[in-house]
Amino acid sequence: MIIEMRKGATQKEINGVTQRAKSLGMDTQMNLGTDKTVVAILGSDTGKVSTDLFAILPGVESVTRIMKPYKLSSREFHKQNSIVNVNGVEIGASQPIVVMAGPCAVESAAQLNKAAEIVKSAGARILRGGAFKPRTSPFSFQGLKEKGLELLGQVSEEYGMPVISEVTDTQEVEAMAACCSILQVGSRNMQNFVLLSAVGKSKRPVVLKRGFSCTVTEWLTAADYILAEGNNQVILCERGIRTFEDSTRFSLDISSIPVIKRASHLPVIVDPSHAAGHYALVPALAKAAVAAGADGLLIEVHPNPKEALVDGLQSLSPSDFTRLMKELKPIAESVGRSM
Ligand code: PEP
Ligand code: MN
Repeated sequence: MIIEMRKGATQKEINGVTQRAKSLGMDTQMNLGTDKTVVAILGSDTGKVSTDLFAILPGVESVTRIMKPYKLSSREFHKQNSIVNVNGVEIGASQPIVVMAGPCAVESAAQLNKAAEIVKSAGARILRGGAFKPRTSPFSFQGLKEKGLELLGQVSEEYGMPVISEVTDTQEVEAMAACCSILQVGSRNMQNFVLLSAVGKSKRPVVLKRGFSCTVTEWLTAADYILAEGNNQVILCERGIRTFEDSTRFSLDISSIPVIKRASHLPVIVDPSHAAGHYALVPALAKAAVAAGADGLLIEVHPNPKEALVDGLQSLSPSDFTRLMKELKPIAESVGRSM
């Protein structure tokens, strides 16, 4: 921790900082400039100490942490890339790009069956589908809930595809973990710390979507909540952030992919559908994500987007999805990956 003293801070004020450090069991190192004094606070436990304890002292201009707030998700903690194994499908391995695809929401047995058939034959390895749909408005379709879960379990078995679905409540975790291979934590719940700890205890792989108003640092710190429970099967998912730009639903932060790859050992996938908000934009964003080093994609596909109960405008039709999967292949190969 670095404490910058105000210009003209008195010796008494500087002593106040060193005394506080001492009382917390920490050492200090002084840097006496002509104008300003800077005090470095040293000790292995500085991460646990609130910066407020120094910021509040008289004569202190600013307090800056040197250590990152996240630990378990950092590359310093774990040098090699982590690989998450979902029933034999590896996410984060050096080669294949894993595509998870399917409808935003499970609507019926026929719809889910058709979606599974389409995405599987186009090369997707994991089926997505929401059973519990936390919508922006309480009056919108909220998903088939338990019935949706049951359908996911059946279709997963029938097509031999692992399934990913969103968990919205700690009370759903157990039932979801029984029929879903991956638990998805949605953007709106990225900082629901009780839910993060609950999925951490479940021992199922977790896709942690980025909160649309959260920084990469906050995202990795949220991932630590899951990892801290002993669940190391965490996959990060960039899904767009809120910016001033309104020509897309959210702004896909492509740079978060290489940023995460440097900062963390966790696999990172991209959801171009919720970022784009429009089917016509999804292929370009998906290609950009693969080119930028994403380990996988989460794409909304509906057998008949015009009839979709949720997110029809951003859902790819069967033919658009099949075409995209073909177009992604050479892009994956150009960055040393396969599809
Ligand atoms: C979803 O994947 O269906 C979803 C609601 O995504 P997000 O949490 O990113 O909005
Ligand atoms: Mn959706």
